[in-house]
Amino acid sequence: SLKGKSAVVTGSTSGIGLGIARALAGAGADIMLNGFGDAGEIEQIRAGLETEFVVKAAFSGVDLTKGDQAKKLVTDAEAAFGKVDILVNNAGIQTVAPVDEFPEDRWELIVALNLSSNFYTTKAALPGMKQRGWGRIINIASAHGLVASPYKAAYVAAKHGVVGFTKVVALETAEQGITCNAICPGFVKTPLVEGQIGEQAKANNMTEEQVVREVILASQPTKKFVEVDDLGALSVFLAGDHAGSITGAALQVDGGWVAR
Ligand code: NAD
Repeated sequence: SLKGKSAVVTGSTSGIGLGIARALAGAGADIMLNGFGDAGEIEQIRAGLETEFVVKAAFSGVDLTKGDQAKKLVTDAEAAFGKVDILVNNAGIQTVAPVDEFPEDRWELIVALNLSSNFYTTKAALPGMKQRGWGRIINIASAHGLVASPYKAAYVAAKHGVVGFTKVVALETAEQGITCNAICPGFVKTPLVEGQIGEQAKANNMTEEQVVREVILASQPTKKFVEVDDLGALSVFLAGDHAGSITGAALQVDGGWVAR
């Protein structure tokens, strides 16, 4: 059980982050939500966690592409719960375009959110974790943290960076009761992927059905999307006491994609 623990989950108003927040709350952790979206819907999510799982839930809508705001997310959570035991760096965005046409503002934004925000939140959370001698940092990288695909230069570069950053944090904290791991999902059907189907169709000159069959499911040997709930369950395991010797790992949850 994670009762008495408190968790920050970035980008938890949608998709994988929301699934992980629900799973951690289900295990008893207090949750600091973060992300963009409709204020009313977010409040419904927040209040829903409190009533469904009998935990405390708060929300901070900081923009994680800004380092100062990323650090503030951790201090907001420390103010709300007194501490941050579990940090899940999940927020991420994607743009699909060839390198020579890749929009420069999107490159900067993707590196800032998908990679640099992990540095800023981790930097802010580590002093408290070290002081208490316990911490769990879970970075949601991607199969694209381990292998590449065309047209995803910024995303693949940032996610490879996340896997490297994860290893460094793991080494620096190895004797202090803190673990830091990356989860590397294959394709999960979330709003992020549904958006990509359209973009990929344009870049590859294909119909959307062809993209799903020939691009997305082609890379995933199981021919099935990864389930959000499975990533939530893995996060709960990594946050628990039996995962104390798993650190610096990049755990593939990708239907066999990276095995090819
Ligand atoms: P999503 O679009 O459903 O959710 C992204 C979340 O990040 C949302 O809550 C959004 O509001 C938030 N967000 C976006 N920009 C932000 C910002 N500047 N500051 C704070 N929050 C911001 O996406 P998802 O598919 O759930 O992806 C979550 C993570 O999982 C990402 O890092 C993504 O790269 C990774 N991932 C996704 C897949 C997949 O197939 N969906 C596969 C591998 C890895």
